[in-house]
Amino acid sequence: MIVDVHAHCWPPGAFSEEFIADARRMRASAVSLLTPRERYCENLPANQEVVTIVFGGKARLSGLWVDDAAVADYVAQAPQTMIGFLSVDPTQPGWEDELRKGRERYAMRGIKLLPMYANFYPQDERLDPLWKYAGRHNLPVLLHTGTTFVAKAPLDCTLPRHLDVVARRFPDVKMILAHLGHPYEAETVVVIRKHANLYADVSALVYRPWQLFHSLMLVHEYNVWDKILFGTDYPVTTVNETMAGLRSLAEAKIDRFSLPAEEIERLIFRDALSLLGLADFRERLADRSRL
Ligand SMILES: [Zn+2]
Repeated sequence: MIVDVHAHCWPPGAFSEEFIADARRMRASAVSLLTPRERYCENLPANQEVVTIVFGGKARLSGLWVDDAAVADYVAQAPQTMIGFLSVDPTQPGWEDELRKGRERYAMRGIKLLPMYANFYPQDERLDPLWKYAGRHNLPVLLHTGTTFVAKAPLDCTLPRHLDVVARRFPDVKMILAHLGHPYEAETVVVIRKHANLYADVSALVYRPWQLFHSLMLVHEYNVWDKILFGTDYPVTTVNETMAGLRSLAEAKIDRFSLPAEEIERLIFRDALSLLGLADFRERLADRSRL
C-alpha cells in the first residue's frame, strides 16, 4: 500500500485573485489549482492500493478558504481510499467551533494548519486549546512548513524550529512537517529527530531534484528515514510523478555520495496510517454508517 499523506481538495472559489496571481511563481510552468479526483486517479500506479489524506486549507490573510463541508463531500466520493483532515485559521473568530465540527460532524481524522499563510505562530499560547484537542482526540496535525510564493505571508511563521517548542509542550501530538520545510530542510531534520511523534513529508519536492537529493542525504546522515512520509501535494504533483522522481534520485551519484535505493522504496511504501494512528479508518467508517 502507498499512503499519500498530503493531497488537496480545492473547489472553485477557494482562492482570491491575488493568491492565483502569486501562484504563478509556484513551479517553472503553471500549475492548475483544480483538484479533480479523476486526474488524481489517472496518475496512480497500476495494481497498487493507494490511500490519500485530503484537506482544503484556511488562511484568510493569503486569500485561501475551503470549508470542511466541501472536503467531506470530496472524501465521500471514495471513503474507502480517502481520509479527510479539517482546517482552521486560528486568527479568525469561530475557529474552535470549526475544530469541533470538523471532527464531530464530518468525522475528520486530523488537522491541517497554514501558519505562514494565515500569519500565526504555532507555539502561540492562544493555540493551546488546539494542541490539547488534537492530543485528546488523537488527531495528527499536518502543518505547512517551508517557503511560499505568496507575497504577504510572513516567512518567519513557517520555520520548523517553532514545532520543537510545541512538541516539548505537547509531546503526544503527532505532527507532519510538510515539504521537509524547504528550503529549511536541515532544521526540519533536527526537529523531527528529537521528537518521537514528529514526521515530515516529501510532497512537492521532486521537481527540485538537486535540492531534494541533498535533503535526503541529510535525512540519511542524521538517520531519520523512518520519520519521512510519502506525499504529493496534489494537484502540484501526482503519485506517479513523485514515485518516479524519488526513484530517479536513487540512481543519482554525486562524487562519492548516493542515496540507498532500498530506503527510497521503504519511503514510498511507508505505513503512514499506522504511524499516525489512522489504520482503523475503514472500521471507524463502518461504525459511523451503523449509527
Ligand atoms: Zn499542500
